[in-house]
Amino acid sequence: MIAERKLKADIKEEEDGFRGANAEWRPREPVAYAPIFVWPPRPRDLIKWTFSYPGFLWPWNSVYLLVTVATWFYLQPSLERCAHFHPAWITQMFMRNLGLLWLISGGWHLLLYTLKLQGTKRKYDPNWPTLRAKRFLFDSQLWDNIFWSCVSGCTIWTAYEVAFMWAYANDLLPYADWVTNPVYCAVWLCLIPFWREFHFYWIHRAIHWKPLYRAVHYLHHKNVNPGPWSGLAMHPVEHLIYFSVLLIHWIVPSHPIHMLFNAQHTALTPAGGHHGFDGPVLNGKLPTGSYFHYLHHRHFHVNYGEATLPLDKIFGTFHDGLSDMEERPEAQPPVQD
Ligand SMILES: [Zn+2]
Ligand SMILES: [Zn+2]
Repeated sequence: MIAERKLKADIKEEEDGFRGANAEWRPREPVAYAPIFVWPPRPRDLIKWTFSYPGFLWPWNSVYLLVTVATWFYLQPSLERCAHFHPAWITQMFMRNLGLLWLISGGWHLLLYTLKLQGTKRKYDPNWPTLRAKRFLFDSQLWDNIFWSCVSGCTIWTAYEVAFMWAYANDLLPYADWVTNPVYCAVWLCLIPFWREFHFYWIHRAIHWKPLYRAVHYLHHKNVNPGPWSGLAMHPVEHLIYFSVLLIHWIVPSHPIHMLFNAQHTALTPAGGHHGFDGPVLNGKLPTGSYFHYLHHRHFHVNYGEATLPLDKIFGTFHDGLSDMEERPEAQPPVQD
């Protein structure tokens, strides 16, 4: 029975992708964009992409939305409490965020890298990350990544949320109410992942500007063979810029749930985008992993955004992963952009 299941998994792995001459695993289909902003329009594909599985809503955006709603109802200090800064509610939010980060990044790491449930099946880079490497803090990629994610990432993420909660509690921001404007609120919630991607593309291109790359973004790119904890392993200045995606709520009328969803999406989705596998769970049936962003970690000057909005395509920085892949650079971080 187990042997039969193993054989099926092997066949499915070969159907979904292959290993090239350099042993890198690639999905069989080249990286493709979601069917939005296409000419001529493909409304049927767009609807299918929005509602089918896997698609825009299912599973991940729905999962993260559920996390946000559960957070809001059960783990979020009330707005009245947030009207005055107090260590009690600020600590509550920090510990909650730290717990979420460990749940998602730690969870992927436990499954794929500690227990190695998947082995290197469907792993883009055939090698495991080097355990000890001088270029990392504590000479360890894992502990370096955990340090930057928790100490800097979680702190700056929480600081933004705290500032916004305080501002909402003191009526300083444009506010949208779910009872009086349910349609507006629902539409704006669905648009947040697009806004996130738009913002990420541009700040990402900005931090690849040589002086900023050398001072700030080099830290994230030390991870040429990334793992789940690499996602939020960034320099504090990059965290400040990365979470500035929330500043939109200064301008666009929002409910604190919009802000929370935006913040959690920003903080928690990178783990799935960096764990280095393609659909490792349920034999490829759970869509997780980002070959698109993996190519950015390999080639540095391509795929600054994500695979929904075709920004890389429009601005000439797109790489579909199938051409010239044999020119893979040596597995070490670039010293300069
Ligand atoms: Zn990355
Ligand atoms: Zn980059």
